[in-house]
Amino acid sequence: MASAEKLSDIGEFGLIGRLEAIFSGPPTPKNVVGIGDDAAVIPLNESWDLVITTDCMLSGEHFRFDFTPPHALGQKALATNLSDIAAMGAEPLYALLTLGCPPEAWVEDVLAVARGMQETADGFDVSVIGGDTIRSPSGMLVSVTVVGRIEKGRALLRSGARPGDAVFATGTIGDSAIGLKLLTGPDSGKGAADTASIEYLKRRHLLPEPRLEEGRLLSSEALATAAIDVSDGLLADLGHICERSGVGAVVWSESIPVSNEARTIAQGSGFDLHSLVLSGGEDYELVFCCKPDCVARLHERWVKTPLAPIAQIGEIVEGSGLRIEGLPEGTERKLGRGFDHFAGP
Ligand code: ADP
Ligand code: MG
Repeated sequence: MASAEKLSDIGEFGLIGRLEAIFSGPPTPKNVVGIGDDAAVIPLNESWDLVITTDCMLSGEHFRFDFTPPHALGQKALATNLSDIAAMGAEPLYALLTLGCPPEAWVEDVLAVARGMQETADGFDVSVIGGDTIRSPSGMLVSVTVVGRIEKGRALLRSGARPGDAVFATGTIGDSAIGLKLLTGPDSGKGAADTASIEYLKRRHLLPEPRLEEGRLLSSEALATAAIDVSDGLLADLGHICERSGVGAVVWSESIPVSNEARTIAQGSGFDLHSLVLSGGEDYELVFCCKPDCVARLHERWVKTPLAPIAQIGEIVEGSGLRIEGLPEGTERKLGRGFDHFAGP
């Protein structure tokens, strides 16, 4: 053994960096977007590029059956992959499903996962065309791969942000992290009066909506210089754009769109709203950058289409790292960097 490092020492992103060093040399052609973006991009022909992504969910780690119905699990497993396709501005076409199941799993539960996945596939015109099935010693593993396409050279990469770009987010941020707290909390929010808000937030965690149409508009009309979907947390994911683009960003915390439901429930339950909005993950909203001279056109195009709302949350600056403006004193210290699968406690 060359070193005594553990994965928890280098973290998920440290590991991905080292995998990239192993895999990214030849024979990967220069015009392929490999490791480091939301999806890989491969030239297909003169008109199209192929876009491919994969994401895996493990029971106990990414979901628990005590609060995740199998049908919702199937929907979410596909939706999170479609979100990566959306972050590239691409159009999804086909999906593959790999299932790892213990022999004592109920057949009806496994089929419910598949039916949930098919329901989401129907909604976005995606065909599920294969996969793999393995025995798991315990717990269920659901891994989905999605193949899509995008007009040649139009993919929205993490690496395209430049100083001066405006940073936007779609929808609202933080709902999913609050929903997860409600799903896993001691009373699951049952004691609170505002049941409609509680149900809304739980649903935002269990059934994220991939922002495919939003991503398509951004790529087809060249409205974004860079994009990512919020899976690890707003700061972590905007941080990925900054690292890949070689820039820094200023985030205006008071401009981040937060739902009324999130505000009400966080206040009533004593949750730290700032931390959950900035560092909670799994919103599957898009964060994207727009050249200053494109911002007016972006707003003009956006109002003409029934899409998730957008809000400017900051701007790209020279340098590196993120600066957060408008936080109450002392909050910044408490912020995690977002979700890292191997981070220690
Ligand atoms: P996302 O949150 O958008 O799904 P990830 O953080 O999972 O992105 O992955 C970031 C990048 O690292 C992607 O380009 C992905 O393909 C790559 N990646 C992650 N894990 C591995 C792995 N085990 N081997 C090769 N590439 C990986
Ligand atoms: Mg992503």
